[in-house]
Amino acid sequence: MASEAVKVVVRCRPMNQRERELRCQPVVTVDCARGQCCIQNPGAADEPPKQFTFDGAYHVDHVTEQIYNEIAYPLVEGVTEGYNGTIFAYGQTGSGKSFTMQGLPDPPSQRGIIPRAFEHVFESVQCAENTKFLVRASYLEIYNEDVRDLLGTDTKQKLELKEHPEKGVYVKGLSMHTVHSVAQCEHIMQTGWKNRSVGYTLMNKDSSRSHSIFTISIEMSAVDERGKDHLRAGKLNLVDLAGSERQSKTGATGERLKEATKINLSLSALGNVISALVDGRCKHIPYRDSKLTRLLQDSLGGNTKTLMVACLSPADNNYDETLSTLRYANRAK
Ligand code: ADP
Repeated sequence: MASEAVKVVVRCRPMNQRERELRCQPVVTVDCARGQCCIQNPGAADEPPKQFTFDGAYHVDHVTEQIYNEIAYPLVEGVTEGYNGTIFAYGQTGSGKSFTMQGLPDPPSQRGIIPRAFEHVFESVQCAENTKFLVRASYLEIYNEDVRDLLGTDTKQKLELKEHPEKGVYVKGLSMHTVHSVAQCEHIMQTGWKNRSVGYTLMNKDSSRSHSIFTISIEMSAVDERGKDHLRAGKLNLVDLAGSERQSKTGATGERLKEATKINLSLSALGNVISALVDGRCKHIPYRDSKLTRLLQDSLGGNTKTLMVACLSPADNNYDETLSTLRYANRAK
């Protein structure tokens, strides 16, 4: 696979109130023109900063609109032409993953990648001539390596992954919902999101311990001048990953530790798959190592496009986590 198919950008958020109150110092600098990001070890001021280069580097002045137009737009455009694509945000809890993916309604420039992708898809559908579209959405969650349908009649039921000789890997019994508008898509997403947080409020205040995949599938049928039917299908996966923070440091035990190990397993499996794809020399891509990578198998690699937005905190007290996010992102390019 051409490495062009995987794009990695970093986005550093502004210092938050807590970091300002703690008088944290910024340790991350971004050179947008070069796509470079540097991090200075606060415990070793005489060490030179570590430098990383990506397909794009964004800092506090950059809005999601710009990230979408520069990096996500071509990927979503490809989906409307019949290719598969995957967009995900990676980073520790509080680093700006939801801000980037879901975003804020106001100011409009900070609307997230997800609502922008919905609009993009339906604009293409409405503008296309002589083509019929069927747009369907599904939404699932992977929690402790169990898969659940966030839009199903029973959101607690564990679903099985199956493999079909032509269809590839699929989730048996996952509900698919036909959508006709941006509003319907947003409504479905909110419904699923609520199902996700309600189930786990007792265990986790912020449900940042599960991975979820919202998928928009587009089937297109176009009739050419000779009256022949052409079918194409594209799929866009919008992935919300669990926070990447290392759980060993949090002193988790029992269920929490089991959960943490599985979060890390999926994240490291995803990192391994992407780095094997980017390397291009590997014959074996380790998709089978986690449910997350098995499910995304037909949308990572091959003829598909992937975008990772690695989200960073600028503050010195997050140095270790930020460095580990930069290293993860660096392996993927
Ligand atoms: P995560 O999803 O990674 O846990 P959030 O997206 O919830 O993190 O971000 C944590 C906080 O930081 C939120 O209050 C969010 O509004 C704010 N934030 C994140 N990124 C930015 C940004 N680029 N600009 C302004 N505020 C941001």
